[in-house]
Amino acid sequence: EKTKSSLIQNIETVVRGYAQIDDEMYEDLEAVMLTGDIGVETTEYLLDKIHEGVKKKEIKEGNDVVPYLEKCIVALLQENNTPMAERTGTTEVIFIVGVNGVGKTTTIGKLAKYYKEHGKSVMMAAGDTFRAAAAEQLTIWAERTGVPIVKHQEGADAAAVVYDATASANAHHIDVLLVDTAGRLQTKSNLMEELRKMARIAGKNIAGAPHETLLVLDATTGQNAVSQAKLFGEVVPLTGAVLTKLDGTAKGGVIISVKRELGVPVRWVGVGEGADDLRPFDAAQFADALFD
Ligand code: GDP
Repeated sequence: EKTKSSLIQNIETVVRGYAQIDDEMYEDLEAVMLTGDIGVETTEYLLDKIHEGVKKKEIKEGNDVVPYLEKCIVALLQENNTPMAERTGTTEVIFIVGVNGVGKTTTIGKLAKYYKEHGKSVMMAAGDTFRAAAAEQLTIWAERTGVPIVKHQEGADAAAVVYDATASANAHHIDVLLVDTAGRLQTKSNLMEELRKMARIAGKNIAGAPHETLLVLDATTGQNAVSQAKLFGEVVPLTGAVLTKLDGTAKGGVIISVKRELGVPVRWVGVGEGADDLRPFDAAQFADALFD
């Protein structure tokens, strides 16, 4: 609702007055998009699309812009959206990455609940060994969701946690292993090394692991989330994103730029602090909510 009123309705208001398309309309449109938190690059991309629509005569007047934009946004969000791999007979290993405070721990808790409710056995690995509080908080979520957790002492080698967790997940025929990771992006090369090592160790015990690496981003930080995503994309190969704190923010447009600039699908969105406040991201539903 908030994103709709701060982005789409503002666009509608701007374009409505134009009986024909001219440079002034593009300028107005650009201004309103930039204030709607979709960023410079995605704004340019969408303006190019509108240019194309005008050339193809699908857009003849201002009123045609918003429906055309909806089509473009849905197409962008659905592009290359391979579904999350569903594994049977072996543990699916999901690494959760992102900077501290974005909602990683909470997302792991929510995912544990989601998978359990969908009949899967779940295990957590406390791979952020840098902060003692990280393992403690994750333990609370493990207890809350009734899921086993593998953890070591603060300062331990994160790869050793992954080794134990993958071995244990194998032994107990766990369906989904959720691995927390450290969120210190300021030491990029260390983090890169640590994540690579964790991935290598995971792959030793479970073929193809990690099967997913999900980047958690805080939607309320708007374009900062996009910059973070780009940095993380350089550190580790990502397979998807989770946008948290979408409740109560008008910056939902950031989903569009994450997809556009990161090129990976948004898998989940967080809509609150509770265990049930996670939704699989559905592009068509998102667009419907924005445009209807
Ligand atoms: P971490 O440092 O990345 O592990 O972040 P946490 O999981 O500890 O979350 C940081 C704060 O954000 C906590 O207060 C969470 O309750 C809150 N949080 C996480 N996800 C959401 C969400 O989807 N919506 C809201 N409103 N708060 C969230």
